[in-house]
Amino acid sequence: MLPQIFAARGGISRRVTQVLVSETMRLMEGRYQEAVGLWEPREGWIIVKRSQLQSLADFAATILHELSHALSGAPDLSLEFEQQLTAELGGIVARNILSV
Ligand SMILES: [Zn+2]
Repeated sequence: MLPQIFAARGGISRRVTQVLVSETMRLMEGRYQEAVGLWEPREGWIIVKRSQLQSLADFAATILHELSHALSGAPDLSLEFEQQLTAELGGIVARNILSV
């Protein structure tokens, strides 16, 4: 499903070298809960928690979320990150409508 997810947004980014799946994840900052995805900028890796693979919607959401970190270079809750994620969503809907 990963190629289709990237195709839905118009392709993969060169900033992403690999998408990896992990059984366990780091705890989210300030919370006692594991993250479901992670962007590792030094390596160019998107890491997805294995449980996200049970749902295409969850998996795609995690990929798009982490990709938005990769493309914006910005952290959660920042304006730059939010603008990138918003652009991703708009692009996907536009491509979807135009391809019908
Ligand atoms: Zn995030």
